Amino acid sequence: MSFHSKLAGAAAAIALLTGAASAETVLIQAGTLLAVPGKAPLSQQTLVVTDGKVGAVKAGYLDAAGAGAPAGSRVIDLRDSFVLPGLIDCHVHLTGELGPRSQLAEVQDDPEETVLDGVAYAHRTLMAGFTTVRDLGAPARTGFALRDAINKGEVQGPTILAAGMMVSITAGHGDVNGFSEEVTHALRPESLCNGADDCRRAVREQIRKGADVIKLATTGGVLSNIAAGTGQQMFDDEAKAIVDTAHLMGKKVASHAHAAGGINLALRSGVDSVEHGSYLDAEGIKLLKEKGAYLVPTLLAGYTVVGMAKASTTLTPAQAQKALEVGERMKSSFGNAVKQGVKVAFGTDSGVSHHGENAYEFKLMVEAGMPASDAIKSATVNAADLLDRGTRIGTLEAGKDADIIAVAKSPLEDVTELRRVRFVMRQGTVHKEAGTPVAFIPKT
Ligand SMILES: [Zn+2]
Repeated sequence: MSFHSKLAGAAAAIALLTGAASAETVLIQAGTLLAVPGKAPLSQQTLVVTDGKVGAVKAGYLDAAGAGAPAGSRVIDLRDSFVLPGLIDCHVHLTGELGPRSQLAEVQDDPEETVLDGVAYAHRTLMAGFTTVRDLGAPARTGFALRDAINKGEVQGPTILAAGMMVSITAGHGDVNGFSEEVTHALRPESLCNGADDCRRAVREQIRKGADVIKLATTGGVLSNIAAGTGQQMFDDEAKAIVDTAHLMGKKVASHAHAAGGINLALRSGVDSVEHGSYLDAEGIKLLKEKGAYLVPTLLAGYTVVGMAKASTTLTPAQAQKALEVGERMKSSFGNAVKQGVKVAFGTDSGVSHHGENAYEFKLMVEAGMPASDAIKSATVNAADLLDRGTRIGTLEAGKDADIIAVAKSPLEDVTELRRVRFVMRQGTVHKEAGTPVAFIPKT
């Protein structure tokens, strides 16, 4: 590490600790720059970053001493790198990670332990090049607390849009299952609802606590420890009440949905995204296009649970059975959706898989038939649009947040390159410098 980059690191650390936006100008010299995913990358460009924002994008390498560079500018040399906007994951669970302890953690861990796990996972996620995530389910207020600490600069992590707790029916994907009756009742989440009025209440509770977005489950889930299948579990009036209440209060809605009945119910009710979409049928594809809703495929979750069902005892028999059924379908439904031209936003369901391995999703998307350029667009331009952040993130243009990452080689040629992110800047602060080891190796 050079003296200059050490200084830069120290400045970044101080800026992080004080929460102060640095007023200095940073010139990022990019060997190749994919400023707007979906368009062609350009070689030998300079990003001018001031106050956490992209001020300008200039052709050629702008030098600190050169014409047009503000006095005192600092140069970050990424002339040997491929530079692109920070990645966005629209479906994570930052405060947990599936493992042999998962079920016990529900009764043994207090929110204090959970939120500290979230601090570690948020850091891994940022180091992997994900500068914004949407957290679609975390216990109590843990997701909101983590989001707020990152916004204050107290914790290093991605920008978070948090849903809080998932709105679900009794015995549904958001219920606590597999415990004694006494324990089940003690743990019963307030985000459970039955009937339209009760579902309006459940949405309002999450918004009162600080939800940026509402998550609901119209079908059963693989990882709920109940042998109730992955079919439709909510009635029309319940789903409609949830979506309308959220939209009335200006919040977007994401629905967990595996079975076609639940996918189509969610879309008829007006959700903004369908998560998983495992048994997507012709009606679902028609509705996705008609409504302009996004599919968030989470292929990595399917891949992970199939592996667990086959090779470990992490999943209970009720979970393993569902995992084997759903995992493969997720991939073929996604391939079909791509062929039909459905809008796709990137999402991994990380927390099922290890945090920090989010970019493995790109490989699965490409294997299922999506071109690498479209997969990258799904994790930048499209994800920003779904999150209603299109004016701030998703591309590197004047006025956008300086959420910038770099890899060694072109991910348009080999999308797995995105698993080896070597440089991360979020809102103008460098969190990972070129030269830092790239691989995160989980312990389990
Ligand atoms: Zn999820």
